[in-house]
Formats: sequence, structure tokens, C-alpha cells
Amino acid sequence: MPKGIQAATHAFWLAGRQATGDDTFDVTNPFDGRLVGKVSVPTEAQVEEAVAAAHAVIDEFAATPAHVRSAALDHVAKRLTERTEEIAQLISAENGKPIKWARGEVARAVSVFRWASEEARRFNGGDAQRLDTDAGGVGRLGITRRFPKGVVLGIAPFNFPLNLCAHKIAPAIAAGAPMILKPAPATPLSGLILGELLAETDLPAGSWSILPVLNDAMPALVKDERLPVISFTGSDKVGYAIQESVPHKHCTLELGGNAAAVVLGDWSSEEDLDWAATRMAVFSNSQAGQTCISVQRVIADASVYDRLVEKVVAAVEAQGTGDPSDDATDVGPLVSEDAAKRVESWVDEAVKAGAKLLTGGKRDGATYAPTVLADLPEGVTLATEEVFGPVLSLHKVDGEAEAFAMVNDSKFGLQAGVFTHDLQTAFRAHRVLEVGGVIIGDVPSYRADQMPYGGAKQSGVGREGVKYAMDDYTYERVLVLTGL
Ligand code: NAD
Repeated sequence: MPKGIQAATHAFWLAGRQATGDDTFDVTNPFDGRLVGKVSVPTEAQVEEAVAAAHAVIDEFAATPAHVRSAALDHVAKRLTERTEEIAQLISAENGKPIKWARGEVARAVSVFRWASEEARRFNGGDAQRLDTDAGGVGRLGITRRFPKGVVLGIAPFNFPLNLCAHKIAPAIAAGAPMILKPAPATPLSGLILGELLAETDLPAGSWSILPVLNDAMPALVKDERLPVISFTGSDKVGYAIQESVPHKHCTLELGGNAAAVVLGDWSSEEDLDWAATRMAVFSNSQAGQTCISVQRVIADASVYDRLVEKVVAAVEAQGTGDPSDDATDVGPLVSEDAAKRVESWVDEAVKAGAKLLTGGKRDGATYAPTVLADLPEGVTLATEEVFGPVLSLHKVDGEAEAFAMVNDSKFGLQAGVFTHDLQTAFRAHRVLEVGGVIIGDVPSYRADQMPYGGAKQSGVGREGVKYAMDDYTYERVLVLTGL
């Protein structure tokens, strides 16, 4: 939206149609503070209407033919592709994400809907078991199929406001499970756009709603017994509070991390180290470090450490901060000035405790300069918590065993990257690293949308990735036929 034009009020999506409530909240651009849009908040009665509509449509949606659900998903993928630039501009405006990364996010969401379209056709082919393996089973046959557990409540974070909404709702449609989708309050517009595309399809009206419910109204929704599955992506604090409040529900929790990239002694040519340093610089700063698998810790063997440090600092200094709408900007603002101040205070704490600041360490409004630290003292916040900002710390170790132990010395375990050429090391890393994914030859930040994705330890419970989310939203029910 050009500066100076009055921001529109955005409706939400209630059982497949647009609706507005009594109140609105503002969505602002974290880079310059301008108003991007006003969003209508659903009333309690409207939330009830959406949940009741979703609950009423469970059987109808499960019985909606796979080809209809697949075609709807394919339609969304095509329309996202056609509207890429407009949607990327919106993501960038509400989130502060550099436009080049926002375009990449739309492409990811296209891929999620395409995968979901394909999986909808493959899913639930069923399985038959012979039961005459015991005398009591003679003349019987078991047929197992998966059915939706019921309505899914999808709760999304701010950092990938389109793609993480896609990761909730596309598998739900593919599996025939109705969904109430709740985008993040800082970035609801990208999620609401999906409603425009879904409204162009033939899906049953009650099968989807996109509701920007305010946080204080969420506990009641979380506790609603008509929503037996909660698929949450966000902070561990909120995720575990949800799980504790509804221990009987199926909760998938996609939470935070402090991902590590390991560089071993065999990854030592100039070309090797240039590649590793560049990838680390890009993926500790992409989305201003606000990625759950951002490179936060670099753990390097002593034999390559000094050369790597020099290259990482140079590569990080080449990351340009600036206006996220500018094609040349690599690193935009964090989601808010408060978020940038928190990162600043953690870096200041580390430096006061003895960490060496190699570059960065400066804040300008909501923008925090790409920052590299070495000699991080044990126990400082940066060493143990998820920074969720453009900051990486470098650690020197002696060999693979110490490196892997350091990766595991964390309460989190989302993904790890290991730079090695050695196949045996790769398999050992796969075996011993306590994470949901091990990336060999690259940073931990690699994710393809069909991969199983999720955490070990306090990084979460369950897996996303289209097919895996479909498993999560459904359960196996066996049909036993007798007298055959
Ligand atoms: P957050 O926990 O503050 O919010 C996440 C969502 O929960 C938002 O939609 C928010 O409105 C909602 N929420 C807040 N209070 C709630 C309540 N009481 N009940 C129900 N819902 C409530 O997280 P955030 O700041 O938006 O996102 C950042 C976090 O997300 C980071 O920790 C990051 O690592 C994590 N994340 C994880 C993954 C993953 O796949 N593992 C992906 C992206 C982000």
C-alpha cells in the first residue's frame, strides 16, 4: 500500500464467508511504524458460530471426494502463484521481512499446497489384515482406514505468516479435517489472504474458518471440547501452557530452538569454508534471525576455527540491513522494537560477562545489526535460550565427540547442520544428535515442506510436513468383517 493511503479494514473468514465483528486492531509495519491494515476481531458469538459450523460438517468433509479436496488445494497453489508479488508485498509490509525472502515464502506456500493436493489423492487408501491367524478370526477380515479426529485448531506464529498458516490448513483439507485457523496478531493479513483463495473453491462452507482471535480469548477456544486436535507453532512458553491446560487433547507443538552448525576438521578447503561461512551468515540473519532453525551456535573444530571465524565475520558484515521493501535488503527489522531491545539486552549481558563482540551489536529502532560473538561465557541467556534475532556465537572444540556433545548440551533440539565429507560421521550424527533433523553439508536451517519437521526435547512434540500433519489430524479405525 503506498504511504499516505488509508489502510483498509480486513474482514475475517467465518465458515467460508467474510464477516466482521465489533472491534478492530491495527497491524503496523515494524520498519517504519506505518499502518498496514486494520483487522476485524470476531465476537464470542462469531467464534461459537465457526466452531459449531466446523463441528457440524465433520462427516460431510470426511466424505468429500479426494478429487474435490485435491482440486481445491491445487487451485490455491495456482492462485498463490498468480498473486505472488502482491502477497509478498503484504508479508513484507506486516512482518518487516525483506521482499526477496517474502517472495521465497510465497513459493514455499505454493509448494505446501501442491504437496497437499497430491497427498489428498494418495491418503487413506486403506489396509487389509487377515484375521484368520487365530481360530477366533477364521472367516473375518480387518480393514483399516484413517479418519479425521475431528475439528483441528491451528495456531500460527508471526515469523512465516503465510507459509506456517499453509502448513496448518493445507494438510487439514487434504485429510478432510475441518479447521479453525488462528493467525498471529502481529501478522494476520497474510493468513487471511488464504481465505480469499479458499473462498473460490467448492469446499464445504463450515470446513474452514480463519479467525484473528485475540490472545486473551484463546484459552476458551483451546478448551472447547469440539476441537480435539491442536496444532500449535510458536514459543515454548505458550505451547506448553496450552498442553497443560488440555492434557487430554492431541497437541502438536512446533516450538523454538537454538540450532547449531558444526564444522569438522575434514571440511577444510577454502571452498568448503567459504560455503559454510556464507550459509551461516545468510541463515543466522534471514528473517532477522527470527526462524526457529536460524543458525544460533557455530561449533567448529580447532583445526579450522580461526579461518572460519575470519570468513564468518566477513560474510556477516556483507549482510545489508535496510528497508524491507528494497530488493537489495538482506536483513530487515525484527517484529517490533521491543523484540530488538530484548536481543540487544541479551548481547549486552553476554559482552558484560566476557563474550567477545566480533561484529554488530548495534540497534536502530526495530533493526538489530547482524552480530557475531565468540567466547560466550556459560550460563548467559544467549548460551541457553532461543535468541530469535540476528546473532550467532562461535565455539571452538576438539573433534567430533566434543562437537556433538555441545550440540546436545541444550534444552532444545530442532535441527542441526554438520559440515563434513565423511559418510561414517554423517551416520553417527544421525544416530547421536538429539534433534528432529540432521542436515549434512549445510546449515540447520534447511527445510523442505514435505519433510517430517519438528523437535526433540523442548523444541516440541509431533511432526509437521504435509503427510505427517495429515497423520496427526487423523487416526486409524479398523473395520472387522465377519462371516466371510
Ligand atoms: P507466540 O508463542 O508468542 O505466539 C504463537 C501463537 O500463539 C500466536 O498466534 C499467538 O497469538 C498465540 N497465542 C498467544 N497466547 C495464546 C494462548 N494463551 N492460547 C493460545 N494461543 C495463544 O510465538 P511467536 O512469537 O508468534 O513465534 C515465535 C516462536 O515460534 C519462536 O519461539 C519460534 O522458534 C517458534 N516457531 C517454531 C516453528 C517450528 O516449526 N518449530 C516455526 C516457526 C516459529
